[in-house]
Amino acid sequence: MICEIICVGTELLTGKTINTNASYIAKKMMMLGINMYHQTVVGDNTERLTEAVKRAVDRSDLVITCGGLGSTYDDMTKETVCKTLGKDFVLNKDVEKELHEYFKRQNRVMPESNIKQTYMPSDATPIPNENGTACGIIIPLEDNKQLIMVPGPPKEMKPMIDGTVVPMLMKKSGFVILGRSLNTLGLGESALAEKIRDLSISSQNPTVATYVKDMQVDIRITAKAENEEKATALLDEYEEKVRKLVPQEYIFGVDYDNIEERLVEVLKEKGLKIASAESCTGGFISKRITDISGASSVFECGVCSYGCNIKEKLLGVDTISEYGAVSKETAAEMAQGVLALSGADIAVSTTGNAGPDVMEGKAVGLVYIGVATKNKTETFEYSLALGRGNQRNNVRTNASTLALYNAYKAAVNL
Ligand code: AMP
Ligand code: MG
Repeated sequence: MICEIICVGTELLTGKTINTNASYIAKKMMMLGINMYHQTVVGDNTERLTEAVKRAVDRSDLVITCGGLGSTYDDMTKETVCKTLGKDFVLNKDVEKELHEYFKRQNRVMPESNIKQTYMPSDATPIPNENGTACGIIIPLEDNKQLIMVPGPPKEMKPMIDGTVVPMLMKKSGFVILGRSLNTLGLGESALAEKIRDLSISSQNPTVATYVKDMQVDIRITAKAENEEKATALLDEYEEKVRKLVPQEYIFGVDYDNIEERLVEVLKEKGLKIASAESCTGGFISKRITDISGASSVFECGVCSYGCNIKEKLLGVDTISEYGAVSKETAAEMAQGVLALSGADIAVSTTGNAGPDVMEGKAVGLVYIGVATKNKTETFEYSLALGRGNQRNNVRTNASTLALYNAYKAAVNL
């Protein structure tokens, strides 16, 4: 099967919006073993969309359009596609009812303009939208082809792709594809790729590949089989193979999005509380921990002690004049200070130079992380500068990732 994506929206052409939807859908198609030869981005323009749809339907078996299903005048994907395909365009009573209920739940009366969102070809199947007003649409075409329309907002598009489109295509293909990610931190992607190189090259099913997101490197195993049980057995077998190649200390979990998710879980499991004192990360650690729902049961406090004055007064740091604010001594005292202040079981701290200029004679990217528990204080030194130019964001993000990672390791051992 050959799939093709058409993303509709002038904001995508101008670069105002990054086309993350195409990437999301393409990854799902790859996972399903569906070939993708073309992707098109077209502005909110009837003529050019018509041309793109004609070409796509001609050369591909599955065409997925994305965007332009809203209720305003520039949303014209549905009308244009139906006209191009020579399909009728009728009001779908079920969708109309659902839409009225959607507005009723929010104590609102449906504006007249939304009625447009209930129209589709009579042989089309609507895909419900729990996060918005535009339903998706599946249109059957000649030669067993299909055209699917999904809305542009990612939070509306993703549930439709995952909940309806992927299961439908899986059923059609007669096989099941399952994936599993081993989440690692602490080893760079090349070093990790080197360790699993032979396995990656020799494995066709499952496939084994690395994916990087900031400092986290995931080893993704993807298996294809005739049923879920067989696919799971393949994943189990290859997870064991990967674990034999990668030192256990680097693997922090399976199928987690990020380290904060895992950290909060471990803290919950062990009934532990955490606190943070941040300098160069300026609150990133607090933010990332509190991004996780249920963080209130494990997160005691986060002190953004950016100024030396606060490091000294609030946290009791007293060696800045001797070693400087960017030092392992300050990191250690900050962690100990916030541990005492909060009464938490684990405290984590950061102090470093995020750049762009050398500070206290300390290089850009030099970061110290402190982790304190009642019986032990550890410090870690990192050089997080990756290249030239302003790297504040990289340094700060990576410092917070490493702080969360070291706090996680301390929690595991407590
Ligand atoms: P639309 O469905 O065309 O009304 O799009 C609504 C919003 O969805 C746009 O303003 C964008 O913020 C977002 N959006 C549309 N298409 C994409 C895309 N391909 N990737 C990411 N976001 C998108
Ligand atoms: Mg649009």
